[in-house]
Amino acid sequence: MSLLLDEIALATARLAEAGVPSPRTDAEEIAAFVHGVRRSELHLVKDSDFDALFWEGIARREAREPLQHITGRAYFRYLSLEVGPGVFIPRPETEVLAGWAIDRLREMDVATPTVVDLGTGSGAIALSIAQEVALARVHAVEVDPDAYAWAKRNIDELGQGRVTLHPEDLADCLPELEGMVDMVVSNPPYIPPDAVPRDPEVRDYDPPIALYGTGADGLDQVRAVERTARRLLRPGGFVAVEHADDQGPAVYLIFEEENGWRDVRNHQDLSRRDRFVTARFGQE
Ligand code: GLN
Repeated sequence: MSLLLDEIALATARLAEAGVPSPRTDAEEIAAFVHGVRRSELHLVKDSDFDALFWEGIARREAREPLQHITGRAYFRYLSLEVGPGVFIPRPETEVLAGWAIDRLREMDVATPTVVDLGTGSGAIALSIAQEVALARVHAVEVDPDAYAWAKRNIDELGQGRVTLHPEDLADCLPELEGMVDMVVSNPPYIPPDAVPRDPEVRDYDPPIALYGTGADGLDQVRAVERTARRLLRPGGFVAVEHADDQGPAVYLIFEEENGWRDVRNHQDLSRRDRFVTARFGQE
């Protein structure tokens, strides 16, 4: 055993004691970050190179600061995004929504599809689509100045000149694209205002504007996404919007009850919970 591996074992026990859900992974990620190696290379770190900054990172994680704020990175599909205070950390369940949109766009008989991501946050969905759909032109919309600054960094680094960022409100954004958009995607805030998340990493670190929806059911932003999608999509275009695992029927109805939508569907995430709704705009 090397010194670092011994320290990782001790740190794992401390993180477990603090209630961190994946203590060994997180201890290894922090060790890899501090020592500038991959997780698979930790055994190669020499005892003389052990860096006491490791324990500073562990102390922050023990206080339930998100791992992604300590390393400054969040992984989403094939991307490594810069994240930190002021931006929502992208979640694995949202990768499924992005994948659905990517599959539809690849099947589409449109050479350069136009895509809009409403409330882009770090830019995760917008940048995944730009990376995985060769000729897509993506418009990312973000009203919050702090999140906008993170989106800009990620888009400048990873957008390949095909993602345009707009400092606008998702409710009235992009009048210049009305009726011209092939796909609208969104992970809006949807937690009802009185439902406080249990995990300290979410409750204390994700920006409230990205978490809490308005209206008694928390779905006013989803309603705004429905209206904006109806305004922006061309006939035959698609929308995909994320929601909480108990909001599937309510979000289905938000689309089904408005004129102009067909093929309204509920979709599940990787843990088989209802997670997003899709619909197609215009009559056949
Ligand atoms: N999915 C978020 C969470 O895990 C809720 C808000 C959102 O994604 N828009 O807390």
